[in-house]
Amino acid sequence: MSEVTNESEKGSHFIRQIIVKDLEQGKKQGKSVVVQTRFPPEPNGYLHIGHAKSICLNFGMAEQFQGHCNLRFDDTNPEKESQDYIESIIEDIRWLGFKWQNNVKYASDYFDQLYQFALALIKAGKAYVCSLPAEDIRTYRGTLTEAGRVSPYRNRTVEENLALFEAMRQGQYQEAEHVLRAKIDMAAGNINLRDPVLYRIRYAQHHQTGNKWCVYPMYDYTHCVSDALEGITHSLCTLEFEDHRPLYDWILDQLDVPCHPQQIEFARLNLNYTVTSKRKLKQLVDEGVVQSWDDPRMPTISGMRRRGYSAASIRNFCHAIGVAKANSVVDMEMLEFAVRDDLDKSALRVMCVLNPIKLVITNYPEGQQEWLKAPCHPKLDLGYRQIPFMREVYIEADDFSEQPPPKYFRLAPGKEVRLRYGYVVRCEAVIKDETSGQVTEIHCTYDADTLGKKPQGRKVKGVIHWVPVDQALPCQVRLYDRLFLEAEPTQLDCDNPRSFLEKLNPESLRVLLCSYIEPYVRQVKPETCFQFERLGYFCADRWDCRPDNLVFNRTVSLRDGWAKVKG
Ligand code: ATP
Ligand code: MG
Repeated sequence: MSEVTNESEKGSHFIRQIIVKDLEQGKKQGKSVVVQTRFPPEPNGYLHIGHAKSICLNFGMAEQFQGHCNLRFDDTNPEKESQDYIESIIEDIRWLGFKWQNNVKYASDYFDQLYQFALALIKAGKAYVCSLPAEDIRTYRGTLTEAGRVSPYRNRTVEENLALFEAMRQGQYQEAEHVLRAKIDMAAGNINLRDPVLYRIRYAQHHQTGNKWCVYPMYDYTHCVSDALEGITHSLCTLEFEDHRPLYDWILDQLDVPCHPQQIEFARLNLNYTVTSKRKLKQLVDEGVVQSWDDPRMPTISGMRRRGYSAASIRNFCHAIGVAKANSVVDMEMLEFAVRDDLDKSALRVMCVLNPIKLVITNYPEGQQEWLKAPCHPKLDLGYRQIPFMREVYIEADDFSEQPPPKYFRLAPGKEVRLRYGYVVRCEAVIKDETSGQVTEIHCTYDADTLGKKPQGRKVKGVIHWVPVDQALPCQVRLYDRLFLEAEPTQLDCDNPRSFLEKLNPESLRVLLCSYIEPYVRQVKPETCFQFERLGYFCADRWDCRPDNLVFNRTVSLRDGWAKVKG
């Protein structure tokens, strides 16, 4: 174990330190001496970047200490859950690069045992059937400053409770007519201990158990028991469960379960300029603000994947933000840094002109074509691509200015610029549309003695990208930007749950339908990532990009603006 300890010391955080100490002290969990964690998503939405933090932590700790991590769906709320969500979650975790132990598990696998344990609680006088209406249960619970009131049903006999609970299970009552509650302490300072509900009646078809049950266990009851049945050693969860820990421990203390896992809380990941709440993300999908759960503007794992984030970049980001006990908001720039950093190492370089304008090299022979060699990566040995150079090329409309500001190093009348990997050209004339006055063509001459060479007797600072008119491939480019204009879109949210929808960035997506890219990418496979030179990182859309319909999504722009790029 010491070997592992030394090796990953630098990624240390308080949870890791707890685990190291537990292992040093030989702390056992039932039969388990290894680290056993679990990731317990509720299949009521797609996973988001916040979940990625929990995934990296749970799977990461198991991996680091040669333990295991279970994937267990917390499926106690059938009306909100679905098979589609289950499948997306499984796919996302695999894609992130993690493997779970054995089969996928479901809390519903334990419904029989949970029921038996509930009977045991009733028999021990630790649980009772309460017949107060839901509203009364709430008011009887009291407040932070006021003790709760005891339910008039609290003293039902064991026999009465067993009979009622069994009748609940058999479907003899309406929803909300009765619930099963733990009998703890209505005066407890911690409201979670004021006789919390353990079971409720729900006539809902369950995606795993069908119509077998009409009583469903509540999350707090299910979670600790599932953890114990799976021999979880460290049950890692987010901070909002800190106040539930006494209940977690109370339930396990009453039951004859194989072990008593240790619940440890850590801070949720909050990221600015976006939302990390499944409920809000679902609202964005349901109201058509975005196209789907995997819309590339969504902070969902599948959205980020479709946008072009690599799994490694997400893992690196989760590693970089660390694990702490205090809530904080992480800057979106950290995530963008992680993806740039990772893609810089692997993305192939190509040239793509987003907003084309035609440039004609008047002294270049018509019909002539030469192949220019360009490296696929500036640092790595990823080979070369050939780019056909011809008399007519497209350049970025932005790279030309009729009245250039000072220090403008791109193309302007009478000025020279280098076409990347090619020749130096000089702007001799512009052709304009007669009615609109817009520049439609730029006429240049080229200096034939500048291929791979500096021009004689003068300095040409600017280098711009281009593609050959005849051979470039038309493509669609989707420019994604932050989904919200404000750093914390959900602030002040309590008064108006829809207020975050008023802070959307109207330019979060701009679609360019007439861009052109090098012929090199003709056979591109979906999800291939490129650096479009001088522009940013782009990824062939996972669903829409085909050889006859090229579609690229902007993952992130380059940190250093185009002006700095050197030829
Ligand atoms: P949401 O509020 O988005 O619905 P949740 O906590 O209800 O999230 P679950 O499916 O229950 O979603 O989450 C599975 C696991 O992921 C839980 O252990 C939860 O604590 C963790 N998790 C959820 N959101 C975050 C986050 N923002 N940061 C870190 N961990 C998170
Ligand atoms: Mg949850």
